[in-house]
Amino acid sequence: MRRTKLIASLGPATDDESVLRGIIRAGVDVARINLSHGSVDDGMVRFDAVRRIALEEQRHVGILGDLPGPKVRVAGFAGDTVFELGDTVEVRSGEDASTRKAIEVDYEAMCSNYTVGDRIVIGDGRLVLEVTNATADLLSTTVVHAGKLSGKPGVHVPADKLVLSTPTAYDLKLADAFVDVGIDMLAVSFVKSAHDMRRVGTEPHPRGPLLVAKVETRSAVENLDSIIEASGAVMVARGDLGNELPIEDLPITQKQIIKRCISGGKPVITATQMLESMITAPAPTRAEASDVANAVWDGSSAVMLSGETAVGVDPVNVVRTMGRIARKADEVFDHEAWAQNVTQMRREADSGNDVTDAMTVATWRAVTELDVAAIICISGTGFTVRQMARFRPEVPILGGSSDPKTVAQLTMSWGTEPMFLESVGTREEMMMEALKTAALEGHVRPGDQVAVLGGDGVGAKVTNNLRIMVVPS
Ligand code: PGA
Ligand code: MN
Repeated sequence: MRRTKLIASLGPATDDESVLRGIIRAGVDVARINLSHGSVDDGMVRFDAVRRIALEEQRHVGILGDLPGPKVRVAGFAGDTVFELGDTVEVRSGEDASTRKAIEVDYEAMCSNYTVGDRIVIGDGRLVLEVTNATADLLSTTVVHAGKLSGKPGVHVPADKLVLSTPTAYDLKLADAFVDVGIDMLAVSFVKSAHDMRRVGTEPHPRGPLLVAKVETRSAVENLDSIIEASGAVMVARGDLGNELPIEDLPITQKQIIKRCISGGKPVITATQMLESMITAPAPTRAEASDVANAVWDGSSAVMLSGETAVGVDPVNVVRTMGRIARKADEVFDHEAWAQNVTQMRREADSGNDVTDAMTVATWRAVTELDVAAIICISGTGFTVRQMARFRPEVPILGGSSDPKTVAQLTMSWGTEPMFLESVGTREEMMMEALKTAALEGHVRPGDQVAVLGGDGVGAKVTNNLRIMVVPS
């Protein structure tokens, strides 16, 4: 069993039903619908397709809608457009078309915000221009980092030059539409503070979507603790974050963000360019394979594919490859060191009086001393499961809930097999139901000893029971 979750972005390359079914069979835990591209309807078609195929395949697949935020994009290129070093390129506001001579950008304040010497980074760093002359409505630039662009790549506008705030009116409209159809998770782009997360204004999860804060601005890094607190999960969005920070700071920042999320009991995604070369190639570079493995060892709850699956030549091959690398890395994961880390951070945070906190510590200790096949967590909102996952225990966590929304949201939690439980009543009945379901789904076998963590039956607000039980035959 793979412990690190796998997120795949959908796009034209996965629209073929056999490909979508193929990546789900290959192990996708969460399907990401990138709402920066295409219309609301395109997103809805993909949403429905994932729901239908997951049901047919009897797999829990969470759906993550990714809100574009104030992302500035260039007007579309007709095809692959190659820029050579030293070429001169004009940049202006507009939405018509871009060529190798003139790029139009859908940001009104573009020209007034740049001055001579500034750099304009396009397509996650694929093309870099330097401003040589700036007027109110035209920037003259030279290519300082040559590259090839196609479609409608994003333009990195440094957060301090960006007058737009997040979520945008369009984000809120998208959020409404996808909350209506019951989306499991929503990602918020270019978050600067916890306040930006609160402005999304959806119901708290599990009733509303689990909100994922994309850390991709300097302010987000500075306000990380309050953002983690205000969010359901976090994404290390390295594409844009890599533009905001010196590139040599990125790996360190990635580690720090992940560590803080884990101690806060929040799932954390490492994203962008993980297997980038596989957009066109049949195998990853050595550096990419190492990147995925290192993201696993950093403690990532999930690793994410973007263009690799959305527009790549062979999405199924990419998912299989990432799954293999992650599983192998999982096998040598230092569970003990991680648990010690979390125990240490807990002590520093002095949160020792919370019941769920104490119960998950007790469970972790029990499973390190006993021969236990799995930890079964019975949870209403998923909170107990995520608190348990903090310890990155060696044995599987079975995250059981009678709320289908919670079950779907647990697809992103490290090491967790989500499990739907019939709502049966008392504590005793719920625990027996959980054992039965776990055995039926093949996660445990009769005679296995398991740790069962839960509350006092249906609707319980506190996790106050830990029992060591044997799976009945
Ligand atoms: P994006 O976010 O793909 O929506 O830009 C991820 C990132 O910036 O890394
Ligand atoms: Mn981004």
